[in-house]
Amino acid sequence: MEKLELKNVYKYYVQGTVEAVKDLNLSLKSGELLAILGPSGCGKSSTLRMIAGIEEITKGEIYLDGEIINWLSAKERNIALAFETYALYPHLSLFENIAFPLRIRGRKDQEVRKEVKKIADMLDITNVLGKLPSEVSGGHQQRTSLARALIRPASLYLLDEPLSHLDTQQRTEFRIQIKRIQKTQNLTMLFVTHDQLEALALADRIAVLNLGVLQLKHLQSALLICRIHRHLQRHILLRQ
Ligand code: ADP
Ligand code: MG
Repeated sequence: MEKLELKNVYKYYVQGTVEAVKDLNLSLKSGELLAILGPSGCGKSSTLRMIAGIEEITKGEIYLDGEIINWLSAKERNIALAFETYALYPHLSLFENIAFPLRIRGRKDQEVRKEVKKIADMLDITNVLGKLPSEVSGGHQQRTSLARALIRPASLYLLDEPLSHLDTQQRTEFRIQIKRIQKTQNLTMLFVTHDQLEALALADRIAVLNLGVLQLKHLQSALLICRIHRHLQRHILLRQ
């Protein structure tokens, strides 16, 4: 059974005048990392927000573990999110921001400390855990948001450009960490990026979106096409 399935999904804004996602069909197996790759404005975030339940689906169906989730609220879906905009709690330290998903599940303090330390070490933010979000850099805030998403068990992890505020070297370093966490814990992950190298480095499969329409789904074909049409790489206009 597929872990996640999108069937003929559409997203229109402003009474249908903006067609952000058009007839999108996607599926994701358990333990798989699928990257959605595409230029800015092609509908990546809209897709993730519909899956997360924070944006209404205009048309189509979304299934998680075989059950339709269209009408479930975000809280009722067991989905963890890390978005490009960090959405951290400003009055909580980075430690408490990361601990939050465990605290609301009533986990013991000792266990919370252990889990926060483990994920903070992986994302190299241990030395700033006592600080407030406003006291650290955008890169630290983004890694905190990522740590908060990854710290708890979830059916599905949605990461929307989670490394966009880091420099090139850090991006390389932390995508290796994300991949390691995803593989060792067998997490099912949908990763959104406009960076082709990032998608190629991370994903088991790549879905290329352009103007809200899916262009290509398989990594092997993506690699092949990249080699054939080098000049197209920068524009991410890959076609089947
Ligand atoms: P991406 O994440 O790939 O950059 P988005 O999903 O954010 O793309 O946006 C897709 C399209 O939908 C863009 O044209 C964007 O301007 C539009 N859009 C996104 N959110 C809204 C909104 N709340 N209201 C109106 N248009 C929106
Ligand atoms: Mg986006």
